[in-house]
Amino acid sequence: MDKKADKGITVKKSEDMPEWYGQAVTKGQLADYSPVRGTMIIRPYGYAMWESIQQYFNGQIRKLGVRNAYFPLFIPESFFKKEAQHAQGFAPEVAWVENKDENSQERLAIRPTSETIIYDAYSRWIRSHRDLPLRLNQWCNIVRWEVKDVKLFLRSREFLWQEGHCAYATEAECQKETRIFLDEYEKLCNDLLAIPVVKGSKSERETFAGAKESTTVEAFMPDGKFLQCGTSHNLGQGFARSFGISFLGEDEKSHHPWQNSWGFSTRLIGAVVMQHGDDKGLVMPPNIAPTQIVIVPILFEKTRASTLEAAQKAAEWLKEFRVEIDSRDEYSAGWKFNDWEMKGVPLRIEVGPKDIENKRVVMVRRDTGEKITAKYNEIASKTKELLEDIQNNLFTKAKENLKKALVEVDTWPEFMKAVDNKKAIFAPFCGGVACEDEIKEKTKGANSRCRPFDQKNPKKNCVHCGKPAHAYYYFGKCY
Ligand SMILES: [Zn+2]
Repeated sequence: MDKKADKGITVKKSEDMPEWYGQAVTKGQLADYSPVRGTMIIRPYGYAMWESIQQYFNGQIRKLGVRNAYFPLFIPESFFKKEAQHAQGFAPEVAWVENKDENSQERLAIRPTSETIIYDAYSRWIRSHRDLPLRLNQWCNIVRWEVKDVKLFLRSREFLWQEGHCAYATEAECQKETRIFLDEYEKLCNDLLAIPVVKGSKSERETFAGAKESTTVEAFMPDGKFLQCGTSHNLGQGFARSFGISFLGEDEKSHHPWQNSWGFSTRLIGAVVMQHGDDKGLVMPPNIAPTQIVIVPILFEKTRASTLEAAQKAAEWLKEFRVEIDSRDEYSAGWKFNDWEMKGVPLRIEVGPKDIENKRVVMVRRDTGEKITAKYNEIASKTKELLEDIQNNLFTKAKENLKKALVEVDTWPEFMKAVDNKKAIFAPFCGGVACEDEIKEKTKGANSRCRPFDQKNPKKNCVHCGKPAHAYYYFGKCY
């Protein structure tokens, strides 16, 4: 019985990316649609990817002195009003709930981000320079109500993320660590997800509501759109002033601390799907793959017991990896191959009666389809080598795609042409909010993504308005 026909992905990635994406995510069992409009269900296979990301990132931030905590989902309305810019920035997307507490009539927001409730606590916890730096992170859900139609992992009213919130005694320390957390995001994308990014500061128009400077890492997807992978904001002392956070310095005087906040979300899973997937479905980079190796025993009635035994033995040799044996009786080997390919498992190991006679297995790479034969005694070392190679190969391919998509332009006609060709654009820009509004309107959605750090004055004019440019920026449409 072959169920491939009703199970496989029915469109090509290059022909209809949105449809392909929806099928890759649902048929790969990462996530599903939910009956509540704009929300999604993360299935165990997708959640395991999130857990891989959490495990990696917790390890990194622990080394940087960050500890995890948890703050409430509900935020009093008055907290929002304390930081005017912040309140204004999030106003259209906040979901409000009625306060059932008889002692309070105040509406409660469901957090669209947690700066306000966390900084209220910081105003009580921070007293002296000895309380600084204070570095906390929380993993939680976020609600932003403006989204209507869900794009699984990419756009939904509720999603999961991490948000880090730190307070420092000096501006220099704050600025330095804002960049360190951004560098961690770059490393996460490169090392774990095999996704290259461009990195830099946001334009004034794109800066986080209430921040002094926003920095970002952005990936470029195969359909010609940027995807923001993580942001780190230098908040200056604005929130500290609004929330009355102050500390007694070594100089015995009262000071406001300097703060940053930084976050990434479950969108990263969407980025992995789009970046690496192919016409057969998902392609998981080994470092984040929930299952790195699937062992498929080729079962015949006569040799069934010995084949299963050999598969068990192979799994035992590979126990340092995330390995699974697919011994389901109700499906053919061919059906299983398709199924695991759709789920993007990096390496498939086939064990059949002939292989057992020869004390060997057949390994099949998901990224290239290449078949490799390995003797029993080299299974573990070969697997390690292949998984590393698959991880590197996916990263190299993604880097080449980004390089091919990048185009530097100095004039507006070239800019418009690059937008039409779905390029990642690098162009001199004045940085003006009104100018960027016009760019976005004329291009039906392209805006600045970031300006790389440490640039010399380009001595060029803005690609759009012709005023002196202050830097080169990446531009493009985005998710
Ligand atoms: Zn301009």
